[in-house]
Amino acid sequence: MKICLDAGHYGNYNQSPANKEYYESKVMWKLMLLLKKYLEEYGFEVITTRSDQGQNLGVYERGKKAAGCALFLSLHSNAVAGGINNNIDYVTSYAAVNGSADAIAQRLVEKIAEVMGTKQPSRVEHRQGTRGDYYGVLRGATSVGVPGAILEHSFHTNEKMTQWLLKDENLDRLAREEAKVIAEYFGMQKPVSPPEEKRWYRIRKKWEDAASQVGAYENLQRAIKACPVGYAVFDWKGNVMYDHENLSAYPYVAKCTGNSVNVRKGPGTEYGNISAWPKLNKGNLVDVLGKEGSWYKVRIQGKYEGYVVEKYLWRV
Ligand SMILES: [Zn+2]
Repeated sequence: MKICLDAGHYGNYNQSPANKEYYESKVMWKLMLLLKKYLEEYGFEVITTRSDQGQNLGVYERGKKAAGCALFLSLHSNAVAGGINNNIDYVTSYAAVNGSADAIAQRLVEKIAEVMGTKQPSRVEHRQGTRGDYYGVLRGATSVGVPGAILEHSFHTNEKMTQWLLKDENLDRLAREEAKVIAEYFGMQKPVSPPEEKRWYRIRKKWEDAASQVGAYENLQRAIKACPVGYAVFDWKGNVMYDHENLSAYPYVAKCTGNSVNVRKGPGTEYGNISAWPKLNKGNLVDVLGKEGSWYKVRIQGKYEGYVVEKYLWRV
């Protein structure tokens, strides 16, 4: 879905009598770029009537650039004759006389008035000319069948409103809110990014058996502590991190966590140590072949078999 944005005037145009820094052309250009950015976040394709701020183009030509778009918007701030007037601040939209943009213009002026905090009620108006719309940009948009509206963002002859529009954070918020209104109107939604993968350790009988889950922890040690017999701790990809006499297949590699750990001939303290490799030290790696009671049957260096009490072995 395409939207056409027009920054109204170009160059240095319509300096505010309330603040010499303010030029309608420049501030509306900034607003347009922000609005473009936020509309694009909703998935709109946004075209602009000018490629740079200093470029002139006739009003009718600008309106016609909207061909193929769902909406044409021309961004302005208003002025009263005779210099500063701090009493007049209403937000207006001049919408195409054929009424095609009335509904969106209505929502936009209400939102702009709310964001800008104007005192006078917002309004949508139509200005009839001899050949259709009085305003050339709207005549141009209508000629290519696109609903068009001019948005007057309050008055730059009003001191407070001029100051407001000169603040970048205000323009940013205004653009965000306008984009939101337009997106809601057209039913566009920001693409939902998939939630960040939960890096949890889950306790299950089998990874595939989600219904068997008895806990999930962000901390591996806590998960292991909580892991009952017959269950295993899986990481978020389904890898077995700890197997409490579970169904995952032996052998697996484990690391010894203590020093001078006895490697016994059988699963109990009544058995003596194996002579080929009687002790394991911290960091030694073994193949775990199975479990008997609280004893793991292990193979050391690929050949010496024995039993090690479970608390000293850590699956790696
Ligand atoms: Zn203007």
